[in-house]
Amino acid sequence: MTTLVDQFGRRIEYLRISVTDRCNFRCLYCMPHEGLEWLPKGDILSYEEIASIVGQLAPLGLRRVRITGGEPTIRPQLESLIAMLRAVPGIEDIALSTNGVKLEAMADTMRAAGLDRVNMSADSLRSERIAAIARRSIPFDPVRAAQAAQNAGLDPIKINVVVMRGINDDELEDFARLTMEHPWHVRFIELMPVGDLRSLTWEHVVPSDEIVGRLARIGALRPTGGPTRGNGPAKYHRFDGAPGTVGLITPMTHTYCETCNRVRLTADGRLRTCLFGDHAVNLRDPLRRGEDLGPLYVQALAEKPREHALLQMQVGGLRALSEVGG
Ligand code: SAM
Ligand code: SF4
Repeated sequence: MTTLVDQFGRRIEYLRISVTDRCNFRCLYCMPHEGLEWLPKGDILSYEEIASIVGQLAPLGLRRVRITGGEPTIRPQLESLIAMLRAVPGIEDIALSTNGVKLEAMADTMRAAGLDRVNMSADSLRSERIAAIARRSIPFDPVRAAQAAQNAGLDPIKINVVVMRGINDDELEDFARLTMEHPWHVRFIELMPVGDLRSLTWEHVVPSDEIVGRLARIGALRPTGGPTRGNGPAKYHRFDGAPGTVGLITPMTHTYCETCNRVRLTADGRLRTCLFGDHAVNLRDPLRRGEDLGPLYVQALAEKPREHALLQMQVGGLRALSEVGG
């Protein structure tokens, strides 16, 4: 099987697939309270179309996929997409990113359909605060959701926390302590200047070095020295004897473009080779015309930028990650 390497020597084998631009949350840092201008239904790829795209890209080196959004679990019968992707020869790993609200109810079905693992976002462990950050009062306990995912056999379980100074950074220690009791990977993400930033500023960004310094007060934290299974750019640490790890994802203080192995498919079928670039290739229309997507994909990868310019961009000048399959 072919492996595609871009002009900077990066093996591109990982596709993040957004299945919807909609969401049942309105996270402070992501989606405006009033929502966004949603894609018309007819513009959104069907599950069959997504599976067909993945089927055409797998012989070109695609090995792993992640289902994301928006909130993927609000799209009906998500398990049928998982089953279709599982049936594509060459796809070794199927992951899901979710806000976790429906995880408890759906974990077993998704696992049975072929889901391998899950990343769950959780910005607080306290119900009123979850509602305040998500701007939705949906009863939801992240610890129960993660436990349900573990019980269903999803592995590894990663919990993503966007750290915001003065909003949830007083819970860093509580989140980190979860890794002392559970085999979960809690990842602290630096807030990025993307999305709905009417209530957030640079002052809310907590640099990862500060996070590590603060966590060291609750226990000896050592770098694990290796990646935890997955594709991500996180740097992992472990408390002595802990079953889980603490990861740091640092888009604001370190870039990891040189090892970027991923591309993205938006809900309306555009291939984006860089999260923060404007360049996107329409795969949906050629697919609907019955054309071969291989040459378009090869061309798009040849143009994958060396790095993004996030730090030079104006705060608020970018689209929400929910629109681009964050
Ligand atoms: N709805 C799912 C979820 O929340 O996990 C999947 C889509 S969401 C856009 C993917 C990830 O992007 C989440 O972990 C979320 O916390 C992160 N994210 C969104 N906007 C962000 C921002 N401005 N800064 C840092 N992370 C952000
Ligand atoms: Fe929805 Fe995820 Fe964005 Fe929150 S981060 S608004 S859960 S898409």
